[in-house]
Amino acid sequence: LVDEAYKHIAETDGKVKAFLTLDEERARKAAQEMDDKIGTPESENVLFGMPIGIKDNIVTKDLRTTCASKILENFDPIYDATVMEKLHKQNTITIGKLNMDEFAMGSSTENSAFQITHNPWNLDTVPGGSSGGSAAAVAAGEVPFALGSDTGGSIRQPAAFCGVVGMKPTYGRVSRFGLVAFASSLDQIGPITRTVEDNAYLLQAIAGLDPHDSTSADVEVPNYVEALTGDVKGLKIAVPKEYLGEGVGEEARQAVLDALKLLEKLGAAWEEVSLPHSKYGVATYYLLASSEASSNLARFDGVRYGYRSPNATNLEELYKKTRSEGFGDEVKRRIMLGTFALSAGYYDAYYKKAQQVRTLIKKDFDEVLEKYDVIIGPTTPTPAFKIGEKIEDPLTMYANDILTIPVNLAGVPGISIPCGFVDGLPLGLQIIGKHFDESTVYRVAHAFE
Ligand code: GLN
Repeated sequence: LVDEAYKHIAETDGKVKAFLTLDEERARKAAQEMDDKIGTPESENVLFGMPIGIKDNIVTKDLRTTCASKILENFDPIYDATVMEKLHKQNTITIGKLNMDEFAMGSSTENSAFQITHNPWNLDTVPGGSSGGSAAAVAAGEVPFALGSDTGGSIRQPAAFCGVVGMKPTYGRVSRFGLVAFASSLDQIGPITRTVEDNAYLLQAIAGLDPHDSTSADVEVPNYVEALTGDVKGLKIAVPKEYLGEGVGEEARQAVLDALKLLEKLGAAWEEVSLPHSKYGVATYYLLASSEASSNLARFDGVRYGYRSPNATNLEELYKKTRSEGFGDEVKRRIMLGTFALSAGYYDAYYKKAQQVRTLIKKDFDEVLEKYDVIIGPTTPTPAFKIGEKIEDPLTMYANDILTIPVNLAGVPGISIPCGFVDGLPLGLQIIGKHFDESTVYRVAHAFE
C-alpha cells in the first residue's frame, strides 16, 4: 500500500500538487516493520498499515510542519500532536504533509506560500480550502486517508469540491493538542476519506478525551462503524430554508432535493425549518476567528519558531521584520482585522457583539436539533471555482463558506458527502447532527453508499 501511494504520488502529484513534504524513507521503514507484524492480533486492525496524509498544520515529530507559511518554512516539531500519537497506535503510515491555505485561512488553498493545489476533477479549478491538499490527495487516489482541520468549513468545503467524504466532528470530540491554533474556539481536526465507512474508522481512531487539551470532552466515544446500519427509517430531518434560498445555485438545490427524496424512500421524513440567524454567520465568524487568530499568531515572533528576519538590528525590528516578511497577505489581513475588533473602544461594538450573535446562532441550531435528528443542506452554494477567480476579492471568497460556518459557531458535527455533479465537478451534501452525535450523521451519510 505504501509502495502504491508513492508510485501514485510520483505519477499524479506533479499536476495536483497536494503534498508539501513527503516522508518516504521513514514510511517505507515503518511499512517493513509492519510486514513483520502481519498475522499478529495487531494486524487485524482495519487501519493497520494504511497510508495517511496529514494537513500541514498538525505537528508531526521530526517531520517538517509549515502551515504553508514562510514563517514556519524550516520548522521541525519536537513532539507529535495527540492525533498523531493515536494514529501511531493504530499502525497507520504517514506518507507526508499536505498543502493548505496559510494557517488555514482561506477557501481555495491559493493562500499557501508554497504552491497551488489543483482539483483532480478539473485541474483549472481549486480543490477548496483550507484543507485543499488533504481533499485533493484523497480524490486523486494518492492516499486513502487524510486528516484536515475545520474552523469555518475547511474540511467540508474541500471535501465537497473534490467529491470525497469530510467530517468536522463536534467541538471537543478530537484533541486539538498539536494542531497549530487558528481560532481555538472553532478549530477541530477531522477525517477526509473516499467512503463514509473509512471516515468512521478514522474518526474512531482519533476521537476522545485528552489531558493535554482542556477543551476536549469527557464524552464516551461510541462505535461509529456499528452505526452504519443503512437504516434511516423514522428519522426526522430538518431542511433550513436559508440553506436552499438566495445565493444557492439551482444545481446544488436540486441535488439536495434529490437526496431528500431518496431518504424519504428509505423511510425518513423531512420538513422545512428556519435558522434565522445563520445569515449573520459569515460576519460573526470573520470577527471572532480573526480576533482569536490575532492573539494565537502572536507567538510567531522570530524568536521561538521558524523564520527570523536577517535584516533586524534591534528587538522591535526583529518582530516587525520577521512578521512582515514571514506572513502572507491574508494572514496579515486577519491579524489586523482581529486586533482592531479586540481593541479598546471597538471591543463592545465588534467582538462582544459577535459573541452575542454567536449565541443566537447556536440557539437556532439547538432548537431545531431538539426536534429533529439531523439537518440537511448543500455544503457549498456552487461547485469548485476557477483558480484565480476569487483570490483578488476576499469578500466573495468569504461568502463561499456561508453554509459551513454556522456549524462551527454552533459547535455541532457536520459531514460533507458527494452528491452529484455540475459540468463534471462534484457537489457536496451536508449532514449536520446534534452535539456528540456523529453516529447519526454517519448513519444518514452511509445510506447513500
Ligand atoms: N475559509 C474559512 C477561512 O478562511 C475557513 C477556514 C477554515 O475552516 N480553516 O477562515
